[in-house]
Amino acid sequence: MPVPNALGVPCTAQRLRFVRSEQELMEALSCWRDALVVGQCSNLVLPKRLERPLLVAAWRGLRLVREGADALLTVAAGESWHALVRYSLGQGLGGLENLALIPGSVGAAPIQNIGAYGVELSERLIQVRVFDRRRGRVRRLAPSECGFGYRTSLFKAQPDLYVVLGLTLRVGPCNPLVLDYPDVGRELAKAGRAAPTPRQVAEAVIRIRRRKLPDPKRWGNVGSFFKNPIVSQRTADRLGRRQPGLVAHSALGGVKLAAAQLIDLCGWKGRRLGRVGVWRRQPLVLVNLGGGEADDFLALAQRIQASVMRRFAVRLELEPTPVQDGPAA
Ligand SMILES: Cc1cc2nc3c(=O)[nH]c(=O)nc-3n(C[C@H](O)[C@H](O)[C@H](O)COP(=O)(O)OP(=O)(O)OC[C@H]3O[C@@H](n4cnc5c(N)ncnc54)[C@H](O)[C@@H]3O)c2cc1C
Repeated sequence: MPVPNALGVPCTAQRLRFVRSEQELMEALSCWRDALVVGQCSNLVLPKRLERPLLVAAWRGLRLVREGADALLTVAAGESWHALVRYSLGQGLGGLENLALIPGSVGAAPIQNIGAYGVELSERLIQVRVFDRRRGRVRRLAPSECGFGYRTSLFKAQPDLYVVLGLTLRVGPCNPLVLDYPDVGRELAKAGRAAPTPRQVAEAVIRIRRRKLPDPKRWGNVGSFFKNPIVSQRTADRLGRRQPGLVAHSALGGVKLAAAQLIDLCGWKGRRLGRVGVWRRQPLVLVNLGGGEADDFLALAQRIQASVMRRFAVRLELEPTPVQDGPAA
């Protein structure tokens, strides 16, 4: 069966099943123990042929419990992330506005701790409900148990340990607006929003994203193909002396550089390599120019990584997960 994916690469799965309830998931996992669980395939680089069984998390459900002015939202993995953001804003509950328009499912959100415009999922999470694949039982994990970091988590580091069943998030006025991201500030100022509501922040974020990011329906892409590298203060100082205007922000574990700037400085913006290329408005994004396959993307990514390594001695890590071809080990 063909597997639709945001990168728009051809992929045929030998065994694929849409799983519509937790009960169905447990049954499917008991016969397909090595199955790969996915959501909407917007952060995967899929091979042409996939031997490993694929289970698509499609179980749904949403519950809102008011707690004073705030609320707890408990959501099943198969719900759409952006629909959840819209629902929360529709209830007058802020907190998720900076994460508007991120493609994909709720269940995948904790895998790389999705983040955008100064907010990460982990800052809004109360609990992750998981199915422990080795022990065969359901567990509830507190955020402190999930190993969250910048675009990473325990789930990403050890992908076959748990299936995410659902999340509980805290939304509402307990989450003050995060407006310090320059693009967001500029967009709100342009719209004359001096004291914006969460919904107006979401609208600003949506406008920025639509302007900057290619629509995966037209140009297959997975958003950022690389993570922003985190380097030591010494490395950042050395690079800053060599490269005037180098963007660097302090981050947990060191100094975060802007991968887009490093890629741009290596001359990759807007370039193409066969059937794939580097998006002209955002060089972090690699796009399918027509007929591109997983190997084309990985070859382009390797060339970019090598350029950045040669010029800055900085290693760029991939953000999406490349799925290996052939049967699971
Ligand atoms: C145009 C575009 C823009 C993007 N912008 C951003 C952004 O701003 N910030 C950001 O953080 N990301 C961004 N992304 C990446 C992507 O949207 C997120 O990673 C999203 O969470 C992926 O959801 P998905 O359902 O498509 O996951 P998939 O791609 O299907 O899966 C991603 C990973 O999660 C695992 N997984 C999925 N569901 C489960 C589950 N229930 N249990 C266990 N494991 C699971 C999969 O095995 C895989 O390893 C962008 C992608 C695109 C296409």
